[in-house]
Amino acid sequence: MLNIVLFGPPGAGKGTQSQSIVETYGLIHLSTGDLLRSEIKAESELGLKAKSLMDAGKLVPDEVVIGMISNKLETNQDAKGFIFDGFPRTKEQAIALDKLLENHGETITKMLSLEVADEELIKRLLERGKDSGRPDDQNKEVIQGRLDVYNEQTAIVKEYYSTQGKTEELNGIGTIPEVFDRIKKALDNS
Ligand code: ADP
Repeated sequence: MLNIVLFGPPGAGKGTQSQSIVETYGLIHLSTGDLLRSEIKAESELGLKAKSLMDAGKLVPDEVVIGMISNKLETNQDAKGFIFDGFPRTKEQAIALDKLLENHGETITKMLSLEVADEELIKRLLERGKDSGRPDDQNKEVIQGRLDVYNEQTAIVKEYYSTQGKTEELNGIGTIPEVFDRIKKALDNS
């Protein structure tokens, strides 16, 4: 299996690049943000609880996202591999993911970290907010708050995979095909 963690701050291009990775490598895309937004749309109990946290740019509890990922791994046992997008976002989630994969005799192959400067991220997110309908993309303070959450709780995940020798940093600035080309080179060398 090819199991990739696509890492980076909000607005780095994880969702966009995941689409190209799915097309080229036939992996299953697991985005905890997308999964949570589907729960909100379905007005499930989980979605109702997650909505206020997400709208405020805060993380939903670890056990919620770990549970969702666990279900997806169970129901996709014959997958060629997975792209984890927006997960893991805390060290606890990273440890839980390793355990879940280990139960299936699997491991993370590589962590690709898309590097983009804050000013560019804020610009991209505000632009996305114009037509994405996402409340968390429409307010500069909420966006700044998400970048703070990333720096305070999520950036540490990069070190977690570095100690396993799995982190590769990639320049996330450029056109969509340019960035995908860098991803492809990193994956084809792994
Ligand atoms: P972005 O990367 O642009 O912030 P996402 O769609 O990945 O967008 O996440 C949107 C929101 O969903 C986050 O701000 C957070 O509230 C929640 N979320 C997504 N993934 C996780 C996760 N792994 N752990 C906790 N909360 C999460």
